[in-house]
Amino acid sequence: MIFDTHAHYDDKRFFGEEMNVTRDELLVLLFETSVCGILNCATCIENFEQTLDLSHRYANVYAALGIHPSDCYRYESMPDALAALENALDNNDVRALGEIGLDYHYDFSPRDKQREYFDAQLRIAEKAGIPAVIHDRDAHGDVFEFIRNFKGTAIIHSCSESAETVRQLCKKGHYVSFSGSVTFKNAHSVREAAAAVPDELLLVETDCPYMAPVPFRGKLNHSGYIKYIVDCLAEVRGATPEHIERITEQNAKRLFKVG
Ligand SMILES: [Zn+2]
Repeated sequence: MIFDTHAHYDDKRFFGEEMNVTRDELLVLLFETSVCGILNCATCIENFEQTLDLSHRYANVYAALGIHPSDCYRYESMPDALAALENALDNNDVRALGEIGLDYHYDFSPRDKQREYFDAQLRIAEKAGIPAVIHDRDAHGDVFEFIRNFKGTAIIHSCSESAETVRQLCKKGHYVSFSGSVTFKNAHSVREAAAAVPDELLLVETDCPYMAPVPFRGKLNHSGYIKYIVDCLAEVRGATPEHIERITEQNAKRLFKVG
């Protein structure tokens, strides 16, 4: 069974015409066949409610709450936004802070605002004693600096860092999670990074509905496709898929205090 450490099942694509079953039928089927846990990651205050609702309705869905770098521009008052986040954390199904981080690719929010929100939310994760789910798009240097000064545990989501950076992060006990991007044809450096993570810090995720692995690249993604990521990691690391499944499940359960 597989633990999907990063999903967005509240995304409207799961309610659109790409689906031939309902979102809830899909989740029930996944839990019956291949998935033992899902961390659903909120990206803004407006979807905390939907993420919490999913975590209440499904025993195996856990919540991560945070304000994404591409969303922080929307809030007029940072203290109010952070207060709303801290309030929502007071819930037993919340097992991580995220997703938070820096996105210098889209730059939807001014970079100084992104950094302020990232810094403040890392402090909140430290205070709450929960791991932080980190989004890093074209911001490796700054993200690395923030994590260096973070006293908690980080999860590098949909890893795109170099093998050398991954080694340094793992030395400090941070976790590294791989999405469908590790299966992409030209993703040689991501596969190098995937080979550099020690067994006890490796995680797998879909980032669904985005990031579908090869051979479904570009299509609607869901946790049932995670086996393609597991197979790729197994090949890169010279292990069996069963081994990758087992260690990533154990790691996720330890990290999110499940079971
Ligand atoms: Zn995400």
